[in-house]
Amino acid sequence: MSHGIIDSLGLEENSLIVGSRFEDSFNSKQVICSNATILNFDINIKASDKSRVIATCSYHGCPWRIRALLCSDGYSFEVKKLNPTHLCHGVNIIGNK
Ligand SMILES: [Zn+2]
Repeated sequence: MSHGIIDSLGLEENSLIVGSRFEDSFNSKQVICSNATILNFDINIKASDKSRVIATCSYHGCPWRIRALLCSDGYSFEVKKLNPTHLCHGVNIIGNK
């Protein structure tokens, strides 16, 4: 069904890019997780504490990852590093559902 093309879904508003800002660490996790859900990818939160949120794709060997760090204002988070490329095919094709 899917050919792995995900740029036709109109994700502008939800797109995660380097420089994306979040209200706080909870919000950053929410946005990262819901973004992955929209795109049908399964991710793991690798690290989440007062100063950083790191998430990777849960598919072994997939290079997708995101790192958001605490901003100098002391509460908001900003995406500092992002590898947006999924080499996996997403959960639809793996067949988790
Ligand atoms: Zn992936």
